[in-house]
Amino acid sequence: MDYELAVVGGGPAGVAAGIYAVRAGISTIVLEGRMVGGQIIISPWIENYPGFESISGMELAEIFKKHLNKYIEPHELEPVNECSKDGDVFKLVTDKATYSAKALIIATGARYRHLGVPGEGEYTGKGVSYCATCDGFFFKDKKVAVIGGGNTAAVEALYLRNIGMDVCLVHRRNQLRAEKRYQKDVEKKGIRVIYDTVVCQFLGDQTLEAIEFKDVNTEEHRTEEFDGAFVSIGLIPNTELAKNLGVEMDDRGYIMVDDFQRTNVRGVYAAGDITGGARQIVTSCAQGAQAALASTEVLGKQYPF
Ligand code: NAP
Repeated sequence: MDYELAVVGGGPAGVAAGIYAVRAGISTIVLEGRMVGGQIIISPWIENYPGFESISGMELAEIFKKHLNKYIEPHELEPVNECSKDGDVFKLVTDKATYSAKALIIATGARYRHLGVPGEGEYTGKGVSYCATCDGFFFKDKKVAVIGGGNTAAVEALYLRNIGMDVCLVHRRNQLRAEKRYQKDVEKKGIRVIYDTVVCQFLGDQTLEAIEFKDVNTEEHRTEEFDGAFVSIGLIPNTELAKNLGVEMDDRGYIMVDDFQRTNVRGVYAAGDITGGARQIVTSCAQGAQAALASTEVLGKQYPF
């Protein structure tokens, strides 16, 4: 099955790339390992994507999918297992088929970072979670800890507080990284913040029952009972396919691109969270669009930059 362009990933970057590519007359396939929407599916609410004052991630993902469907049907639940380059042609292998394309946009986003402490794996799905929107409901009226100090941790803590949970934020430094607006909301909602503290291990029997913490200043260990823990410590870029193609990454593991989303490998473009930077829906969409238009340069098509 031959295409001019293959877009791997169906988050905001992949969706925008698909829409722009088809509208530019490029025969395109969009392959998504799970569902169109990517990370936004698990965002409780989004209030900074222009045009949408406040919308749930799931709702926005559905709008994205409907918009993309107007042009092409994305291949959902079809992760790309292998990607190679033979001359000027890319070969992409999934469980269902092998596709070829002359240009490739990698928009595979990022996955949850794990703490890597004892008990984390054992209690994942049994009290330890990485997604408040997905699992928060199971802890209604219970006591939970959100680990992390960034926007995601703050937003998740607020979401959990709003559905009636006793929530505390646990952060390794003495200051949150989250935007001031979220910090104010955290304070307003009476969410306890435990600063300068790291998780040593998750404890329990069949399910999570307690967390052992260490104060990074005093080195003192203490254990506190919790019914749930949400680990919100950021993301790791999904660069496995890119690595196989010889695409260059920066020292944090994100794909390096130029202003046109070109990587160092001719015909390979990258867009969205996988390139690091602001990692916002609006920036991901812009990068996806830019990558699709830039790909015309290897497809013998004209686009007036
Ligand atoms: P992030 O901004 O990278 O923050 C990760 C947090 O986890 C940081 O506070 C970091 O601590 C902490 N951390 C990292 N590794 C840790 C470890 N091993 N142990 C303990 N703590 C650790 O990630 P994010 O909050 O997931 O956000 C990702 C991107 O999405 C960001 O660009 C963010 O702005 C964006 N976002 C935006 C919104 C919005 O509504 N605008 C909502 C969610 C996310 P340090 O602070 O000490 O580094």
